Amino acid sequence: MNTLIVTNIGTIVSGDIATPITPGDNIVIRDGVIVSVGSATGVEGVVVDAGGATVMPGLCDNHVHPVIGDYTPRQSQVGFIESCLHGGVTTMISAGEPHTPGRPKDPAGVKALTILAHKSFTNLRPSGVKVRAGAVMLEPGLVESDFAEMASEGVHLVAEIGISGVKDPAEAAQMTRWAQSHGMRVMVHTGGASIPGSGVIGADFVVKVQPDVAGHANGGPTALPLSDVETILEETDARVEVVHNGNVKAAGDVAALLSERGELQRLVIGTDSPAGSGVQPLGMLRTMSWVASLGAVDPAVAVGCATGNVAEMHGLNTGVIAPGREGDLVIADAPLGSQATDALGALAIGDTPAVAGVIIDGAILVRKSRNTPPPVRTIRFPA
Ligand SMILES: [Zn+2]
Repeated sequence: MNTLIVTNIGTIVSGDIATPITPGDNIVIRDGVIVSVGSATGVEGVVVDAGGATVMPGLCDNHVHPVIGDYTPRQSQVGFIESCLHGGVTTMISAGEPHTPGRPKDPAGVKALTILAHKSFTNLRPSGVKVRAGAVMLEPGLVESDFAEMASEGVHLVAEIGISGVKDPAEAAQMTRWAQSHGMRVMVHTGGASIPGSGVIGADFVVKVQPDVAGHANGGPTALPLSDVETILEETDARVEVVHNGNVKAAGDVAALLSERGELQRLVIGTDSPAGSGVQPLGMLRTMSWVASLGAVDPAVAVGCATGNVAEMHGLNTGVIAPGREGDLVIADAPLGSQATDALGALAIGDTPAVAGVIIDGAILVRKSRNTPPPVRTIRFPA
C-alpha cells in the first residue's frame, strides 16, 4: 500500500463552500485516494511537512480550449498544460476544441473530432493533469442519434454554444435537450464576440437554451451587462462562470451579485485559455483572487468555486478534500513579500498565492512552482 501523509497543515480548505474550512492539520492519501482529513495519528507512510502552509483541493479549470496533447495552436505553445500544473491546476474541463487546425464542420467530422479528443485525453494525462476533453461543437445537421453515439463513446460535454455553426436559439435548445438527455453538460458562450465566427450572446439566448452553465459571464472577453447576468440567475438553473480571459471588474461584480443573492454555489471559475490573451498558467489563482478581493467573497469560498463547485457540476470525484475523494491537492502559501500572511489572506487582498506543491492521485508532481513567487513558509518533501 502506498501512503502519503501531509502533516503540519496550517489551514485545510475543503473545496465545499457549505463548510469551506476543515479543522485539523493533516491529510492521509492511500493508493491515490484521500482516507482521512484532519486528525489522523500514528499513520506510517511518506511524509510531506507543510510547515504551517494552506492545503486546498487541486484546482479544476472549468473552461479550457485544448486540442490534442500538450500543444496549443492558438499561441503555438508547447507545454501549456504542464505550465498550468505549476499554477495549481489538476483538472481541466474542455469548453470545445475550436483551435484544431482545419476543424471539420460536418456532422461526421464533428463527431469524430469530439470522440478523438475525449479518448486521446483519457489515454494520456499531460504531466499528470486530468483533462476532460471532447466537447462537441454544435453544427447544423447533428441529430439525436449522433448525441447517443457520442455519449456511448464516453463524451459528456457540449462546447460553448455560439462559437460554432449553430446560432439559432431554437436549434441550440433542441440539441441541448438531446445532449442533456444523454448525460452531457452544456455551456453557452455569453457576452461579446471572442474570435471571428463567434457572435454576441445575451440573456435572452441563454434563457431560450437553458444550458448547464453560462460561460464567462464576466466576458470572453467582453462582458454582458450585469442585468443580463441577473436575468440568467432568475430565469434559468444554469451555473454562472467567471474566467481569467474576461473583464476584471465584471468578475468582481458577478461574484458580488451571486454573494448578495446567496447563490455562490452557482459560481464556477475557469480561465478560457489558451486564448487571444495567451496561455495563463496562474489564471485560476488570479481569477480566484479577483472573486475574493473585488467581489468580497470569503477566500475559502472562492477556492470552492474553483474546485468543488466545478467537480459537482461535472460529477467528478475530485475538487473536495474528503475521505473517498481522489488525492488531488495544492499546498499554497502567501507569496514572499506579500502583505498577507497565508494563502487565503493573499487571495483576499488580490495577490496571487504561492504554489508550494501539487499532488495528483497521491503523487507529488510539483515541489516548487516554476511560475509563482516562492512561499513564505518552508515546506519539506521526502527525498
Ligand atoms: Zn467563449
